[in-house]
This record gives sequence, C-alpha cells and structure tokens, in this order.
Amino acid sequence: MAAARALKNTPAEVVLIDRNNHHVFQPLLYQVATTVLTPGQIGSPIRGILRKQQNTVVILGEVTGVDKDAKLVVANSADRVGVPLAYDFLILATGATHSYFGHNEFEEFAPGLKSLADAEAVRNKVLQAFEQAEAEEDPSRHRDLLTFVLVGAGPTGVEMAGAIAVMVHGTLKSEFRRIDPASARVVLLDRGHRVLGTFSEALSRAAQQRLEKLGVEVRLGQGADQIDHEGVIVAGERISSKTVIWTAGVTPSPAGKWLNVETDRAGRVRIQPDLSVPGHPEIFVVGDTSSLDQDGKTLPGVAQVAIQEGRYAGKLINRRLAGKPMPRPFRYFDKGNMAVVGKGYAVLESGKIQVSGGIAWLAWAAVHLQFLAESNLRVSVFLQWVWTYLTGQRGDRLIVNHYGVERAKPPAEELGLKQSPASK
Ligand SMILES: Cc1cc2nc3c(=O)[nH]c(=O)nc-3n(C[C@H](O)[C@H](O)[C@H](O)COP(=O)(O)OP(=O)(O)OC[C@H]3O[C@@H](n4cnc5c(N)ncnc54)[C@H](O)[C@@H]3O)c2cc1C
Repeated sequence: MAAARALKNTPAEVVLIDRNNHHVFQPLLYQVATTVLTPGQIGSPIRGILRKQQNTVVILGEVTGVDKDAKLVVANSADRVGVPLAYDFLILATGATHSYFGHNEFEEFAPGLKSLADAEAVRNKVLQAFEQAEAEEDPSRHRDLLTFVLVGAGPTGVEMAGAIAVMVHGTLKSEFRRIDPASARVVLLDRGHRVLGTFSEALSRAAQQRLEKLGVEVRLGQGADQIDHEGVIVAGERISSKTVIWTAGVTPSPAGKWLNVETDRAGRVRIQPDLSVPGHPEIFVVGDTSSLDQDGKTLPGVAQVAIQEGRYAGKLINRRLAGKPMPRPFRYFDKGNMAVVGKGYAVLESGKIQVSGGIAWLAWAAVHLQFLAESNLRVSVFLQWVWTYLTGQRGDRLIVNHYGVERAKPPAEELGLKQSPASK
C-alpha cells in the first residue's frame, strides 16, 4: 500500500496484486480476536482506498512465482491458474505467516493471528469455549473449557493475554449463570526469560507485573512441547485447555524461492541498501519478507519498517522514471515500540524514552488510530474505544460460523443402535 501510494503521480501503470481484497491493520487484529472491534473497523477494501489513484489497477490474485529473466509475475485468480503478468519494475511485499518451528501439527489445535480470517476464527474459539462451559452440567469439565493458553509472549501474546483477562473480568462477568467467567485461567508461555523480549528489561518487568495483576499466569523459560486436542504439555506438565492460541514465531513468504536469490537464515530475501535484489535493480523486496542490516543489526519485522521501505521503493522508481538523481540509501527511522497490557495501560519505548501506564496507552491509541487506512475507520474505532472504556461493552461478540454449525453426534444408544465390541 505504501509503495503503491508513493507511485500515485508516476507516469506508469501500477498493478497491485493481493490475494485478499482488503488491507488490514495487523497490530489491531488482537482486538478483533478479543471482541473489542469488528473486522470492518480495521480492514478496508484495497480498491476503495486507492479509488482516487487513476494510474493504479487492483487485481485479486495469488502470486505463485516470478520469472525474473522474462520479467513476469505468475498469479492465480479465482478462475485462472498461472496467469503471467509482465513488469518493468517489481516490488514484492508479501509479508510473513506463522511459524510453528517445525511442528506444523500444532496448527490444527493452536491457530495463529495473521489475517482477519484468523482473528475471526480465534474470536469464535474463545466465545465458543464460554458457551460450551455454560451448557456443560459437569463442573469438572469447566476448567479446561475456561483455560486459555497463549504460546509466545511477544507483543501479540501479551496483548491477547491482557485483553482476554479484561474481557473475563468485565464484559462477560454478568452474562453467565452456571459459570463464573472471572474464574477463567489465562496462561502465557514463552521459552525466553522475559515477556516482550525486544523491549528494555524495565518495561518487560512492568508488563509482566501488570499481566500478573490482571490474573494472567506468566510462565517463562517454558515452551509448548506438545499441543493436541486436550491442551498443551509444558515442561512435562499437561495444561488441559480447549483454547490454545499460537502467538510465537513467523516465517517469511516464499519470495526468496520465487526469485531464487540469497536469503537470511529465516528465509527472508537479502536486499541492498536501495532495497533492490543484488543483480536486479528492477526488483525490490520490502517489509517482513526482506532482510536488511542497519548499524550492524537486522531491521525488525514491524509495520514502520515495511511502510518506510515501501515508500522508499516507490520514490526510487519515480525518480528513475523521471531521470532524476537517485535518493540516498534507505535508512530506517525508528519511532519506537509499544504494546498494550490490558485496559488503559501500555509500555512505550522510543530512543531513551521509556514510559509505562496510562500516558503510554494514550500515545498507543493516538498512533494506532493514525495508522488506520481511512478516516471513517479512525472515527469508528475511536468511538468504539471510548464506548468500551466507559461501559465495558464490546464491538462484536457474534459467533459467526461460515460453514454452519457442526453438530456433535448423539451417542449410539440414543439412536437405537447396538454398539459393536470394536467401537466400544
Ligand atoms: C497480530 C500482529 C500484531 C502486530 N503488531 C504490530 C505492532 O504493534 N507494531 C508493529 O510495528 N508491527 C506489528 N506487527 C507487524 C506488522 O504488522 C508487519 O511487520 C507488517 O504488516 C509487515 O508488512 P508487510 O507489507 O511486509 O506484510 P503484510 O502486512 O503481511 O502484507 C502482506 C500482503 O501481501 C499479501 N500476500 C501475501 N502473499 C501473497 C501472494 N502469494 N499473492 C498475493 N498476495 C499476497 C497479503 O494478503 C497481504 O496483504 C504485527 C503483526 C501481527 C500479525
């Protein structure tokens, strides 16, 4: 989006291909997953955002490869496979997806949070657990239904854990009769030795204390050794849980494989200081799927890096087409890191400034509103936050099952069937 916008006045045809018809602001996905916001409040149709950009065509399609010698991108659309699209310049910004660190079998039981579809799936899972517990007469079954495990204590895990804790103590508290939502157990695991490992130690400690105050059980130095339909095994102990959410690693898109170029250990394409691929000045790779070192450190996979790189690549192409001198090599300007921990509390680190508490939360809210794609979303999210803050009421607590409700099979005896010895 940032690159396409930077090419707004370029005398060229800009073709933006995405497998989704919408742009989503990922930092607020956890708020959809925890029922504060609706999907439509953090996502917008791409063609709507770019409606005034006359030189840009938006195509819904999934890129599956690049022929860099023939200068072709290959994409699938709803009814066509392997469609070649010619380019003069190519910007790949295909992001990252969850990584289960070689344990892809965990995915079935522990969904991650990367897209709006993921956020809706997690929201359904969380809400369904409370519904199931309320319908369950046997109180001994309530414990695993009301245990929520988050694997990974980076910003997403911390924000999710805090938000679930706030939800069970606030909104849901008065709505159930058989269960007490406030008795829910929220467990946050991480193999590392502190939460928010990329923040300073002082802010990590503040965030952990805040989580513990909210009732979150923080278990550090322990990862998930096994995840299955009964829960998680952690350091030899089984935590029975029907809701495990993966908030740990990410892995880049296959851009490196499509281009067949050098990647870093994580699989991100190694790019040059002008963000192009070595030997191919017409191909740029930006954002989470690229790897660039600055001052001896690899730039992090965060929104600001992606946005600034996208803008730079667009600007560079602009200048090349206009025959103007090239801009100076890309330099990331780090505006800082933030994470929310429950209601009205955040941690913020920017250069030497370190703040935690309400002021950091206000700064977080202002910055996040500013980054939403359209002004109608900013107004809508702002009003929703004020409403939720004052009343505890949330934006969207509907369990929307797109594929219909899968009903449990009644026991064989109820159907009048005789069980065979093998099925007993
Ligand atoms: C839950 C969560 C919370 C986050 N919180 C923060 C935060 O608080 N602060 C922060 O700075 N960063 C945060 N991030 C990271 C930030 O969102 C990313 O760094 C940023 O979105 C990366 O931008 P990108 O353009 O590289 O990739 P993305 O934003 O992932 O965009 C990739 C786009 O490419 C499309 N795409 C992918 N593959 C294909 C294909 N084969 N064909 C066609 N289209 C394709 C996708 O549909 C998507 O639209 C968070 C990320 C997540 C998941």
